[in-house]
Amino acid sequence: MARINPEFTDELKKYGVFDANACYNCGNCTAVCALSDEENSFPRKMVRYSVLGLDDEIKTSLDPWLCYYCGECSMTCPREADPGELMMSLRRWLTAKYDWTGLSGLLYKSLAASITAFVLMAAIVIGFGAYEHFNLQTIMYYGHFFEKAAITIVFFLILLPNIFHMWWLTVIKSGYKAPVSAYFKALGELIVHMFTQKRTLGCDNNQFRWFEHLILVLSYLSLLFTTVFLDWFTTQHLFIIIIGYVESAFIFVVTFDFVRHRIIKDKEISKHSHPSDLYFVIWLFLMGLTAFIVRLFIDLYILDNNVWMYLVQLIVLVQWAMIIVPFGKWTHFLYRSFAMYFHRIIELAEE
Ligand code: SF4
Ligand code: SF4
Repeated sequence: MARINPEFTDELKKYGVFDANACYNCGNCTAVCALSDEENSFPRKMVRYSVLGLDDEIKTSLDPWLCYYCGECSMTCPREADPGELMMSLRRWLTAKYDWTGLSGLLYKSLAASITAFVLMAAIVIGFGAYEHFNLQTIMYYGHFFEKAAITIVFFLILLPNIFHMWWLTVIKSGYKAPVSAYFKALGELIVHMFTQKRTLGCDNNQFRWFEHLILVLSYLSLLFTTVFLDWFTTQHLFIIIIGYVESAFIFVVTFDFVRHRIIKDKEISKHSHPSDLYFVIWLFLMGLTAFIVRLFIDLYILDNNVWMYLVQLIVLVQWAMIIVPFGKWTHFLYRSFAMYFHRIIELAEE
């Protein structure tokens, strides 16, 4: 028998805006959703589960990840229940449930905890700079070391166990028995969705947003590669230097547009910004901008006299790598891709 959690809607409100009492179950939202089908019927099903407090059903469902938040359902809802924002809130809630450390939930629910975490990271970087007498070469050496170490530690210690937990809930606990071959066959789905997020194109009028996301994902991943593995800040190779400039510029130009929409709230999807949405776009913008300026200072031979600029870049990087990537909205990028992968595995299991 399904377990009912009477506290669920109250808990969910901490993850976003949703009026549980507004929905009268008309089904307009599901009818208008271009991504919903008979097998994966949302958002109405998720609205009902939420209202009834069926949190176990939500935890084992991939549906919240199959929504790419176009906002059509919210615009169509006659009761202004905002089902699109509910799906977004469920994704935040699920992120907290997958996370074995519990920090995701804490940071989503508490603004004070988030601010403390950001300040703590900044204090650690400044403290480290002072300990090293603000010696640029030493700080840059350890900054570069941090990039490599953070990727490895965050991936193996946080993200991988959380993905495993998501798989356990949505595939195994849900009772799907897929042969090992299904996991190999579905791998293409994971790669394609991770790099292209092509499901966004299934929503009407989403082409430009998809294009911006594509540019952002490719620029972000390639800048990561350029700085970590091609030593962008120390290389003398002209081609690598130019590539890094282009990648970082793409990041801050595209994210500037995202921040602008969130401020002017001109679209359904940018009407409600949870603090985690703002950290994500603002920090991504700062990542691109500060990396660009640091390399510019290097090429103008003025970074030695402006160590503070590298420290600012390092603070942004450490906050990004230790807060937003493992526990914040960055994880949506990963969970969405794995949701498509698990979804395909389930399809193969059913076949
Ligand atoms: S969320 Fe709105 S559109 Fe969807 S079933 Fe409820 S009232 Fe109808
Ligand atoms: S936001 Fe768009 S994709 Fe998501 S449930 Fe609503 S209509 Fe469907």
